[in-house]
Amino acid sequence: MIARLLEERGIRATANRILVAGALARSGRPLSLMELEDMIGSVDKSGIFRCLSVFKEKHLVHAIDDSEGTRYELCLSHGPDSDDDTHVHFYCERCHRTFCLENLHIPPVTLPKGYDARTANYVLKGVCPYCNGYSNA
Ligand SMILES: [Zn+2]
Ligand SMILES: [Zn+2]
Repeated sequence: MIARLLEERGIRATANRILVAGALARSGRPLSLMELEDMIGSVDKSGIFRCLSVFKEKHLVHAIDDSEGTRYELCLSHGPDSDDDTHVHFYCERCHRTFCLENLHIPPVTLPKGYDARTANYVLKGVCPYCNGYSNA
């Protein structure tokens, strides 16, 4: 399943790449390099980083900058050329996790002439429902 996802994006499905993409798919939220390293014991940090660079190049992952640095998530857009998966993220200042709010799309902005935006980082910060006692983490 993961292997097919990789091949659909033109990425050769090596063992490491399957592990890294699988960890991102399982987590359901954006993960930092360190969080990925904790989840995947068998691949070292530089190996994970190399996988992520390839994924980014092929639009399989999004990179999100939050308070702690960069986190990565699988891109759920419908093709390698279109990126229709830009949504709002929420960074929790208590548990230091970042969540995807897939149903909240980043509001379109009209840029002045000459600006050509490629990516958008829309990260709200505050306290998540788990830390607020609304649901169980
Ligand atoms: Zn939290
Ligand atoms: Zn997301």
